[in-house]
Amino acid sequence: MLVKLSARGLRALSATSRTPFVARISEDPALSEAERASDLLLLSGEASELPQGFRGYLLRRATPISDREDVYLLGSDHHYLRTGDVVRIDPARGSVSALYRTASRSNTFLVTERCDNFCVMCSQPPKFHDDSWLVDDLEQAIPLISSEATEIGITGGEPALLGERLVRLLALLRRHLPRTSLHVLSNGRRFADGSFARGIGDVKHPDLMFGIPLYSDLPEEHDYIVQARGAFDETVRGILNLKRRRVRVELRFVIHRETVERMPEFARFVARNLTFVDHVALMGLEPVGFARANLETLWIDPVDYQGALGEAVMTLERAGLATSIYNHQLCALDPRLHRFARKSISDWKNIYVEACEGCRRKEDCGGFFASATLRRSRSIVAYT
Ligand code: SF4
Repeated sequence: MLVKLSARGLRALSATSRTPFVARISEDPALSEAERASDLLLLSGEASELPQGFRGYLLRRATPISDREDVYLLGSDHHYLRTGDVVRIDPARGSVSALYRTASRSNTFLVTERCDNFCVMCSQPPKFHDDSWLVDDLEQAIPLISSEATEIGITGGEPALLGERLVRLLALLRRHLPRTSLHVLSNGRRFADGSFARGIGDVKHPDLMFGIPLYSDLPEEHDYIVQARGAFDETVRGILNLKRRRVRVELRFVIHRETVERMPEFARFVARNLTFVDHVALMGLEPVGFARANLETLWIDPVDYQGALGEAVMTLERAGLATSIYNHQLCALDPRLHRFARKSISDWKNIYVEACEGCRRKEDCGGFFASATLRRSRSIVAYT
């Protein structure tokens, strides 16, 4: 089911806080007094009286309440909220943003919208304002998240632009969520600075991986894709520095018309020079942001690159590299590649289309980005 992670429609039923705040959701009116101060009580039924001491109150049904501050009526877009979720409430905008959802395996922290690349297919085009409040919120949210959380992603923008604050954020995650797997999406360039890479390694997070894009074996082609001169050299040096500090690295290669031609050479380059990376992901295009704006130039139907994809995958596998195909529908892949395909699209933006009705492979198939409305492979046919 699609989920709007940030949605307006929150209506104040009483006096409110003046500024945005972060809190955890609880549906337990008998929660211990000690925990109430950081929790919002979520009530689905009638509420004539509200227990004291909670950070605030979220009601699914309108009830005349006047004796508590921060009582809000939720809109229909907030149907998914449940105990353990951590949210940011902005009373002035009337919005709720889910920072962490217990029911999801796709929890991702956006830590900045700033970036030093300008990729032609960027799904989250950079903005250049001060957005340090994003990390301020996360620093409040992390101690509220269940230690049972299995996986959290960190994304931008470019997270490494946070500098030392990224190191502190990873240390905070290690302290509060030591069993939670962390995956950071970064262009890797800032780790060309060996001391920064050492700082990341010194966090000694037990389950941390950096996902770093490399789009060609040719420096000038990678630099063109990311629209930054010298980026290839910095990224490769960053990868080497992180690995030197025993930080795990995943290479990410996004397949589109500008990269597809050299995909087999890219795989050979990785198999010869970067065999120490921990994972290689060959990824379909997410058609939002610049990718959507440049779709005419970038789109290529996956059925038209199955030969190159197969060659790249086999090269990587022969080199002993763990290899995955992300963001592809099974019916658009050569059946010999199905064992490499992963369900990689985050739940909140993942859909299946009409043609998928009755498909017996639907459970194993990654489906589509909800944004993939303009172009879809001509090979989409249900397995019967
Ligand atoms: S028909 Fe739909 S569910 Fe079936 S393999 Fe194709 S995309 Fe996946």
